[in-house]
Amino acid sequence: MIKNRVIKIVFFIIVYLTLSAILSYYFYVDKNARIKLYLTQSIQKLSSEYKATKNAYEMLANFFHDELAKDQQFLQTLLKARSEQKALQKLFQLLQPKFAILQKYSINYLTINDPVGNPIITLQKKITTKTLIKSKKSIFTNKKESANELLIEFSKPLYYNHTLIGVYKSAISYNVLRQKLQELFKGYYAYIINEKFINNKVFGYGNYLFVQSDLHPQFYYEQNAQITTDPREKEIIHAINLRIEEQVAKALTQEPPQSFALSTKVDGTYYTITFLPIKTTKPIGYLISYKRDNNLALFSTTFWQNTILANLALLLILAFIYHILETKSRFENMAVTDKLTKLYNRHKFYLTVPPEINRAKRSGKPFSIILFDIDKFKQINDRYGHNTGDYILKTVAQLVRSNVRSYDSIFRWGGEEFLILAPETNAKQAMQLAEKIRKIIESHSFDILGQVTISVGVAEFNPQTDANIDRTIKRADNALYVAKKEGRNRVALAS
Ligand code: GH3
Ligand code: MG
Ligand code: MG
Repeated sequence: MIKNRVIKIVFFIIVYLTLSAILSYYFYVDKNARIKLYLTQSIQKLSSEYKATKNAYEMLANFFHDELAKDQQFLQTLLKARSEQKALQKLFQLLQPKFAILQKYSINYLTINDPVGNPIITLQKKITTKTLIKSKKSIFTNKKESANELLIEFSKPLYYNHTLIGVYKSAISYNVLRQKLQELFKGYYAYIINEKFINNKVFGYGNYLFVQSDLHPQFYYEQNAQITTDPREKEIIHAINLRIEEQVAKALTQEPPQSFALSTKVDGTYYTITFLPIKTTKPIGYLISYKRDNNLALFSTTFWQNTILANLALLLILAFIYHILETKSRFENMAVTDKLTKLYNRHKFYLTVPPEINRAKRSGKPFSIILFDIDKFKQINDRYGHNTGDYILKTVAQLVRSNVRSYDSIFRWGGEEFLILAPETNAKQAMQLAEKIRKIIESHSFDILGQVTISVGVAEFNPQTDANIDRTIKRADNALYVAKKEGRNRVALAS
């Protein structure tokens, strides 16, 4: 019984562990799928933010171009300015107030090229001395007093009488775009430039001032593009960069550049970092957004909540099933067990016998029935009381149980009558067993009573000749009667 329960408990633990592992794995996969989807969405978001912001500037640039394209005075002056110095000056005077308006919207560069591509006139914001001093520390020095920023250009042709007379070009710096993104959308924005681009100098706007990035040695920041001036925020971004630098190393250098996103935890806060390739004719580098992200913390919390809840539910269900099975087997046992002696009852005997008869018929080997009765039990009851009588019954049951083989079954047949079913045992062997038991009871000391004896009747069931078990029991009972009659405390074999 105890061994059975241990096996059952071990089985339930294995079932629990297996189901728990499957569930936890499912939640883990689900969490990762959610994170992956979320990161994909963050790439789409950054791409939209970038496109929308850039587009706003482009619309502004186009609007300005459209104004110029229908300004006859401007177009005529431009036509002349290609050869006349005076016209060039007039062109400058015409453009300057308009350029001042453009600058209000951070479009700090304006060039009119001739149709071949040579600049006729260039207007741009002044570079402060502060920038130049700073630049000395940079690995790229700026000798020309020209634009030292990475630019996004917007170009459109200019026609006069259906003839191409020039190309309008205006530009904003990436840093302006970056600031605008930061202003419009929460988070920090940065961009990094590939050294290949720096070496190629694809842009025609002079030299740039760069510092190596803390993300990858092959990528540089523009020196004037400060993500934030707050030292604590700077520290956080730096900490994020150090944390992800290994993870992004491969993705950053893939060809062609692809967008990607990842998440990381710094100081207990989750961040989503998204990389979007930026390019003109050739790839320049990446736009990066850093966003503090509670959703990612939520994915993690949800994962743990689901796992814990599922495990609790699982434990509860398994405990319930275990309880039901336990109760069922307890009731089943109760139905076949005698309460006092914990031996099987008569009902169980009639369940045990048919398979035993079948087995005997198949093997040709007989089994035996040993029926015994406590001698003068009425006297014991009368003299010492019912409690002592019960104690005798329990002790006898215990003595017999511990002295028969495990496949012998013992039944409480009646009040103080017991039956042993001994499989694959012939009359001679059963007599030996009966004698052994009789001796064990006889020699046992029963507390105040001292000696208690039993009388035993033995009958063999022969599968070849016997058809009915009740006949065998009757023969064993008759033998028991003989044993009683011949003076008790003895064994008799049925005829
Ligand atoms: P004999 O040697 O001929 O078997 O004499 P006996 O007194 O044992 O025979 P008898 O059949 O007359 O008495 C059996 C007694 O066993 C009668 C009954 O009170 C008692 N008895 C039956 N079941 C229980 C029980 O569960 N507990 C107790 N204490 N006594 C029981
Ligand atoms: Mg008796
Ligand atoms: Mg009796």
